[in-house]
Amino acid sequence: MTEKFDLVVVGGGSGGLAAAQRAAEHGARVVVAENGRLGGTCVNVGCVPKKVMWNAADMAHRMAIAGDYGFKVSARDNDWAALKRRRDAYVARLNEIYKNNLDRKNVTLIRGDARLPDRYGVEVSGNRYEAEHIVIATGGEPIAPDLPGASLGITSDGFFEMDDCPESIGIAGSGYVSVELAGVLHSLGAKVTVFARYDRLLRSFDDMLSDEVMAAMRDNGIEIVTDFIPRALRQASDGFVLDGKDKRSFGSYEKVMWAIGRRPRSAGLGLDRAGVDLDDFGFVATDEFQNTNVKGIYAIGDITARKALTPVAIAAGRRLADRIFGGMEGRRLDYSNICTVLFSHPPIGTVGLTENQAREQFGDDVRVYETVFVPMLYALSENKPRSHIKLITEGADEKIVGCHVIGDGADEMMQGFAVAIHVGATKKDFDDTVAIHPTSAEELVLLR
Ligand code: FAD
Repeated sequence: MTEKFDLVVVGGGSGGLAAAQRAAEHGARVVVAENGRLGGTCVNVGCVPKKVMWNAADMAHRMAIAGDYGFKVSARDNDWAALKRRRDAYVARLNEIYKNNLDRKNVTLIRGDARLPDRYGVEVSGNRYEAEHIVIATGGEPIAPDLPGASLGITSDGFFEMDDCPESIGIAGSGYVSVELAGVLHSLGAKVTVFARYDRLLRSFDDMLSDEVMAAMRDNGIEIVTDFIPRALRQASDGFVLDGKDKRSFGSYEKVMWAIGRRPRSAGLGLDRAGVDLDDFGFVATDEFQNTNVKGIYAIGDITARKALTPVAIAAGRRLADRIFGGMEGRRLDYSNICTVLFSHPPIGTVGLTENQAREQFGDDVRVYETVFVPMLYALSENKPRSHIKLITEGADEKIVGCHVIGDGADEMMQGFAVAIHVGATKKDFDDTVAIHPTSAEELVLLR
């Protein structure tokens, strides 16, 4: 059977659903092919269940200082299994809502593995769906290293399947997934060791954030082993042991998790038959308008080698649909100044250039403002976790090109500042803004 549409979207995750629905709002006849759960990584094994777990961990942190405010509570005895049941039910509700949204917009959903037999269509379960426009939005998947015993470990997907909090866990990886899940597991009762390949975690972030997050993790009781390259994972009598190339061994752990990166889901899609170019790592190569090298085939989200974030995939998908079906010629996503939050303990909010990037780009024209302080939340506590803010400006008018915050509340603080930076705010604009007192955010407009 062959059916004709205006748009075929391969992948019903953040980017694919956004592109499909926006195209349908513009009047296009759209079909989405999805071989897993609607909502993709973000809803099922990413942002959403992760944030639920971070909320639980955050509550544990609040309960730990509640005594300083006169409460008699204890954060012990978290019922992980009950938390997971409620979290899974929430995700299942979201899956349902996503399906209803497609129905309301008359977007056809096809369940199954999609592949491109040629440039003109997509095949799912022997049926062919043809369209002038095809969007590839198949996202990525977590990887495990190629070493003996690697399959004994889990990945972030496995984290979301765990029915109990492990007593101990070793997490290999230096990126944000490793940092976030280490924090959650530690806060909910696991003994956590993180293994970094080089000398620091979050290497692509501003050094200040990397230094502060490592210090905070260590203060909280997480062990961080640096300059460690795994050689093998093996089963010992009482758990798993991680052997390093330098002959060091660590463990045993009840679980070991690989958080060493993700690969694009491009293999087996038939992109070669359609003539679509991939880069050396299997990402679909696109220009600034999400066009691949084949006319009428586009790619958005994690399948491209751009910032792997849900709002980025959504924004790229919507703008693409606006351009193709909404008559908005030239509409595209500007990938600069994309704000992001890392749900560590404490959280990080960051937008723009790191100090090193700014200095490389602007040399001596860069000026950096910083402050370190203890948020008022801890005024009554003996333990005083600190917050650190860094603002990076460029040129005589001190245009803000980078803003990095780690500390309590950074997660909710950053979106508004990102708007200001997006529209080109200068340090003077910040200085001229009246502070909100007493907050941590006010420190950003009080920097000297
Ligand atoms: P996906 O959401 O992965 O969707 C791709 C879809 O395509 C999937 O549903 C898949 O089943 C389907 N598919 C693949 N191949 C085929 C095929 N052949 N046929 C049919 N369907 C197919 N981002 C944030 O912004 N904030 C966060 O806090 C955050 N936390 C994260 C935490 C973790 C642990 C992880 C792993 C990721 C996190 N992300 C976060 C990243 C975010 O989840 C991704 O950037 C986002 O989901 C990418 O969307 P996408 O549409 O490109 O791909």
